[in-house]
Amino acid sequence: MNLKIQENVPLAELTTFKIGGNARYFAEINSIDELVEAFEWVKDKGLGYFILGGGSNTIFNDEDYLGLIIKMNIMGFEVINEDESSATIKVGAGEDWDETVKRTVDMNLSGMEALSGVPGNTGATPVQNIGAYGQEVKDTIYFVEVYDTKQNKVTKLSNEDCNFSYRDSIFKSSERGRYIICFVAFKLSKEKAEIPQYKDVINYFKDKNIINPSLQEIREAILEIRKNKFVNPSIMPNAGSFFKNPKVSKEIAEKIMLKYPDIKLYPEDTKIFPNPDGTYKLAAGWLIQEAGFKGVELEKVRIDPNHALVLENKGGASQKDLMDLVDKVKSKVFELFEVELEIEPVVI
Ligand SMILES: Cc1cc2nc3c(=O)[nH]c(=O)nc-3n(C[C@H](O)[C@H](O)[C@H](O)COP(=O)(O)OP(=O)(O)OC[C@H]3O[C@@H](n4cnc5c(N)ncnc54)[C@H](O)[C@@H]3O)c2cc1C
Repeated sequence: MNLKIQENVPLAELTTFKIGGNARYFAEINSIDELVEAFEWVKDKGLGYFILGGGSNTIFNDEDYLGLIIKMNIMGFEVINEDESSATIKVGAGEDWDETVKRTVDMNLSGMEALSGVPGNTGATPVQNIGAYGQEVKDTIYFVEVYDTKQNKVTKLSNEDCNFSYRDSIFKSSERGRYIICFVAFKLSKEKAEIPQYKDVINYFKDKNIINPSLQEIREAILEIRKNKFVNPSIMPNAGSFFKNPKVSKEIAEKIMLKYPDIKLYPEDTKIFPNPDGTYKLAAGWLIQEAGFKGVELEKVRIDPNHALVLENKGGASQKDLMDLVDKVKSKVFELFEVELEIEPVVI
């Protein structure tokens, strides 16, 4: 057996939130053959498993995980198709996401530049259909090569098969745990990229007097803006945005707009967005701020004083500390706005 199984591996250090007990069993997977071996081993032992990428969207339990943690390290970056207007690139699940974006931008291929700086690995990007500054990874995913644990075989899923939606896909919901993503193929454009139509990005180029930025300049802008906006997990452990922006009915949205006349409709401000289907999307950070939670601390966790959407581990926090604060936030927001907040990271 090539596969190396380690025992009692601390999990907190493998995540950006730095919470969690030990993994009873832990394996780093560098090839599909090793993945198949890992599944045979798990089946043989009658154990459960959990797939881990960069750990930037995972909150482990305080108790030990009794099954096998499978850390996906499959590498690779290969152009598999190219024509005058596009190129398709197949990338290993273990490749660092921002490095993948950097390489495509260096090749002058557009489509994922606004996703520069999102932490984690390439294999996790389809799971919650990562998005930022108007781009979602679903817009460039051509196919996903997976190991299907139900059929015990490697197969390809088309973009449509993945059923992508806002921060969601079959990998996170209906088929959670079934497919292990080994490679992701992205179809990228050779056409010039547009400036993402977001206030921060527009202002960045206005300040610099750049009217027609290159792809490289757009990537640099996004990285610079994110540096000031997101809390660096190596300084204050966190998992990025902790709640999804909730979708609400027209009735609820109208009630909120009546109660909070200062809330402006998109595009003047970005707290409430009308959806094409008549519903509205609300900024979760605004709801949490209005509920008075900005900067609030509970045990060893807190809500960032500047970013109401970012929950942080002040050092030595437990999952229980975190979930106690989450419960308080959720119930206050519901009491005030009749809006149910949904957690974005995966909580084990
Ligand atoms: C500071 C900060 C900023 C962030 N900004 C953004 C942002 O702008 N936009 C955004 O969308 N997200 C953002 N995130 C969230 C996070 O970076 C993304 O969700 C990222 O894609 C997670 O990648 P990961 O490799 O760390 O996943 P992990 O945390 O390791 O895993 C996340 C989930 O994916 C599953 N998974 C991982 N790899 C595989 C695989 N190969 N096959 C099957 N399942 C797998 C895991 O089982 C788990 O359920 C941010 C996080 C942080 C800490």
